[in-house]
Amino acid sequence: MKIKRIEEWVPIFRKMPKVGELLVQKKKITEDQLLTAIHIQNENRENPGLDPKKTLIGQILIERGDITENDLLTIFSEQLELPYVQNLSLRTLEEQGIETNLEACNKMYGLCPLEMLETQEFLPYKFDIAKDEENGNIAWNVFCFSADPWDYDKIIKLFQQLIMNANESLEVEIITETNNKSDFSLLNVTDLNVYISFARRNDILRTIEELKEFLYMGVKDVASENDYVTIRLFREILNFGIQTKSSDIHILPNNANGGLQVRLRKDGVLAEESRFTRGSEKFPIQSYDEFVNVILNEAKIRSHEKSVMALDGALQYSVDGVTYDMRIASVPVLMGQRLSVPKITIRILYKGNTRDVNRIGMLPNQIKIIKQLYSKSEGLTLLTGPTSSGKTTTIYSILNCMDLAHHACYTIENPVEYELPQAAQIQVEEKLGLTFANILRNMLRQDPDIVFVGEMRDHESAESVLHIANTGHTVLSTIHANSAYKVPQRLINMGISPHQIFSSLNLVISQRLVHKNCPECLKEYNPTGFERELLGLSSDVVYMHGTGVVNNETCGRCEGRGYIGRIGLFEILPTAMYPEWEYHADTPERLKNYFTSMENEDGEKLYPDLMEDAKIKMKKGWISPKSLASVFSRLEMKD
Ligand SMILES: [Zn+2]
Repeated sequence: MKIKRIEEWVPIFRKMPKVGELLVQKKKITEDQLLTAIHIQNENRENPGLDPKKTLIGQILIERGDITENDLLTIFSEQLELPYVQNLSLRTLEEQGIETNLEACNKMYGLCPLEMLETQEFLPYKFDIAKDEENGNIAWNVFCFSADPWDYDKIIKLFQQLIMNANESLEVEIITETNNKSDFSLLNVTDLNVYISFARRNDILRTIEELKEFLYMGVKDVASENDYVTIRLFREILNFGIQTKSSDIHILPNNANGGLQVRLRKDGVLAEESRFTRGSEKFPIQSYDEFVNVILNEAKIRSHEKSVMALDGALQYSVDGVTYDMRIASVPVLMGQRLSVPKITIRILYKGNTRDVNRIGMLPNQIKIIKQLYSKSEGLTLLTGPTSSGKTTTIYSILNCMDLAHHACYTIENPVEYELPQAAQIQVEEKLGLTFANILRNMLRQDPDIVFVGEMRDHESAESVLHIANTGHTVLSTIHANSAYKVPQRLINMGISPHQIFSSLNLVISQRLVHKNCPECLKEYNPTGFERELLGLSSDVVYMHGTGVVNNETCGRCEGRGYIGRIGLFEILPTAMYPEWEYHADTPERLKNYFTSMENEDGEKLYPDLMEDAKIKMKKGWISPKSLASVFSRLEMKD
C-alpha cells in the first residue's frame, strides 16, 4: 500500500463515516455495543481532567474489549488506504529496507529525541530533505508510524517546531530533487510532507525501547558500528533461542569466506534457523571473526586466552525479567584454506525445568524402586547414556526424593545445570585448579551425606567416588558405557576392584530420551516395514503417534510437530536389592539375563532393558515407533 502525504488523506478522513458506524457496518460490533460506547464517550467528555484519548469511540471499544486494536487499525488502513504494519519491531523496520544503522539513527533521533517520542507515542523512521528546483523551497519528507490517525495534527505541529529548530542549527544537505511540488507550505522556505503508516501503540513503544537500547549501547561500551550490529545480532539469536526453548545454539560460518549459519537444538533435534543465515557477501569472514570476538567478550573470555585451542565461558543473559545462565564454548574447526575457524556452541540452562521422578517418563515400578532405595541411603548410583540423554535431570529428580533438609548435600559439576536450594553446589573451574579430582580429594572434610559428582572420567575421580561411597555416604555420578549391564566392567577397566564395586554399587540406570507423543493429536499409527524390522515390532500391537493435525488444522498444542518435549527410556538395575547379583556379573550378557529374566506374578518383566522399556511405552501410546526409530538408529541401543 502506498504511503500518502497527510494532506492527501486527511480530507478523506474528515468525510469518512464515524468509526463506530464503520465497525457496525463491518459487523465488528453490534448497535448496542456502539450505543454503550457513545454513552461512555459522553460521560468522559464531561470530565475535563481525563486523557482526551478516552473520548475516542475506538479507544473506548478497545478498553471494553469489544474490539482489538488490530480491528481498529485494519479498518483505518482500509478506509484511508494507508499501510498498517503488524508486529512492528526494529527487525520489521530492517526488513522493509529502512536503515537502522548507527549513523542513520543518530541523524534521525538526534533531530527528534526518543524520550520525547515515547511520550508522544509515534515513531518517525525516515526523513529526507529535498530542494524543489522550481520554487527553491526546501521540502522535508518525514515518514512515521502512528497508532491513531487523529494524531496527524499533533505530529505536524511537532515537526514544524523541530524543523524550525533544525533549520537554525542543522547544515541542510540536499539529497534529491523532488517533483512533488508541495502545496503544504508551512514555513515560507520549507515544505513539510508527513507520511503515516499504522502500527499498534505497544509495538511503537517497544520499538522505541529497542532503539533506545541500541543507541545507548553505542554510547556506552561499543567502539564501532560493526560491533553494534554484531551485538544486536547476537542478542537476537539468544532471544530466539530462549523463545523457542532451545537447549543449544550452534554458530558457524557457511564456508571459508564467511557467511553465517545458526542451528538450534530443540527437544534434541538440531535444525538450521534460516532467519539468521547470511551469505559471505553480506557477512565476510572478517565480520564472522568480529562476531565471534563480540561473543567471547560478552562471555568474558579475555583476549590473551583467545589463542588457546578450545575455550569455555559463561554468560548471564536477561530477557523479559528472567536471567538465564549460558555456557559458551568455542572450538577451532577446519574450513577450506582456513585452518581454524571458531565454531561457537551456546548451551542455555533453564533452571525451572522438571526435576521430579514422577514426570521424567519412569514406569510406576521404576519410580517405586527409586523411592525404596533412597529411603535408606548409602552407596553409589551410576547413570549412563549419551550426552544430552537427560542423565543430570534424572539425578536431580532422585536428589529431590531425598530428605535434603536433614542431610548435607553437595553437587560437583561442570557446569551446574540446575539450582538445588538445599545443596551446596560447586562449579568445577579447571582454570583455577578447581578440578573434579581436587574437589573430590577434599570432599570428606566437608562432612557430606549426599554427593553428586558430575562425571567419573578417569581412574582418579573413580577411586575418590568409590571411596566416598564406601565410607557410608550416598554418591551419584555418571559414567560412559553403552548399557547399564556394561557398567561393572567399565569400572573394572578404570582400575576399580570388583570388591569395591560389589560392596558399594546400589543402582545403575541407563537412559535415552525420546519425543513424547502429543496427546491432543494422537492417532493410530501403522509402522513402516523399516520400523518394524529395526525395532522388532509385533503386528498385534496398536501403535500411536501424534499427527500434528486436529480437525484438519495444525494442532495448537504441539504446533504441528506431533510431539511435546521428551521422556526417558530407562534400564534400571537395583543391585542393592539383589546381593547375589555379583555371581552373575562376570559378563554384561549374563548380567542382562539375570535382571531381564525376573518377572512379577503377572508375568511382566521387573527390570526391562531399554528396548523392552520402549515397547511398554509404545503400547501405552507415550512414544511413537517413528521417534524411537530415530533415536535407535543414532544411538545403537542393541548391545
Ligand atoms: Zn499435537
